[in-house]
Amino acid sequence: MKIHEISQAPFIREMCEATHQLWAYGWAERNGGNISYRLPLEEVQYYLNVHQVKKTIALDFTVKSLAGEIFLVSGSGKYFKNVQKNPADSLAIIRITAEGDKYDLLWGLEGDDLPTSELASHLQCHAVRLAQDPEHRVILHTHATAISAMTFIHELDEKKFTKTLWQMITECIVVFPDGVSVLPWMVAGTNQLGTASAEKMRESRIVIWPHHGIMSAGQTMDDAFGLVETAEKAAQIYLQICSTRQDIKQQITDQQLIDLAAKFHVKPKAGILSEEGQQND
Ligand SMILES: [Zn+2]
Repeated sequence: MKIHEISQAPFIREMCEATHQLWAYGWAERNGGNISYRLPLEEVQYYLNVHQVKKTIALDFTVKSLAGEIFLVSGSGKYFKNVQKNPADSLAIIRITAEGDKYDLLWGLEGDDLPTSELASHLQCHAVRLAQDPEHRVILHTHATAISAMTFIHELDEKKFTKTLWQMITECIVVFPDGVSVLPWMVAGTNQLGTASAEKMRESRIVIWPHHGIMSAGQTMDDAFGLVETAEKAAQIYLQICSTRQDIKQQITDQQLIDLAAKFHVKPKAGILSEEGQQND
């Protein structure tokens, strides 16, 4: 098979565009943020000899269900600002080995660096999302400013957090009817954070890490990116309302949220909208 120039691969271009846009939004300062993108073998093999392994590296956990899966991942310590200038230095294509406890480096990280320090979180989240949705492909983590700010002044109860976001923009409940999950503050880059995030991804595609940022899951880069943009926009509106120091005089009611969900054929996460609203449905 003819191997095409990998810099022209759609998945590399998408990764370059996404990392640059995250930086342009101000959510990826320095080396903040990381993305992993599951690639089907049929797509990769046009651009890469997948039988050529540069090296094999042990994971300190096992993800048996991802055996043989190939991922494009951002590199540890890499600045999103710089990805598009030299993707082969900032990104890596890895394949999980048959035992699920190591990965083969197939391409990238030419400076002998490692994939993202949040690889544990990413792989565990991929495993959970894939079990629920075979079309799942992207896990994205970024330091979304308003979401992070909101975690300082809003209760971290995830039902209350979800409802507040749903009330900020009419479309929120349509974009993330599964709501947001909120973890307690945890040390970044640990298996514990990975396991806790993955556990939350069973019920929602957005997981908020207080005083840190957000993680989202999607079937495409646009899907995962769009979830973050929508939650972040809602959080911006929340902060602007708070900054006015005025009482809210009117807002979207539970019944209106239920009506929206019905119109757009989505099922809102249970236990968030009031019983009264549900009964009036
Ligand atoms: Zn982070």
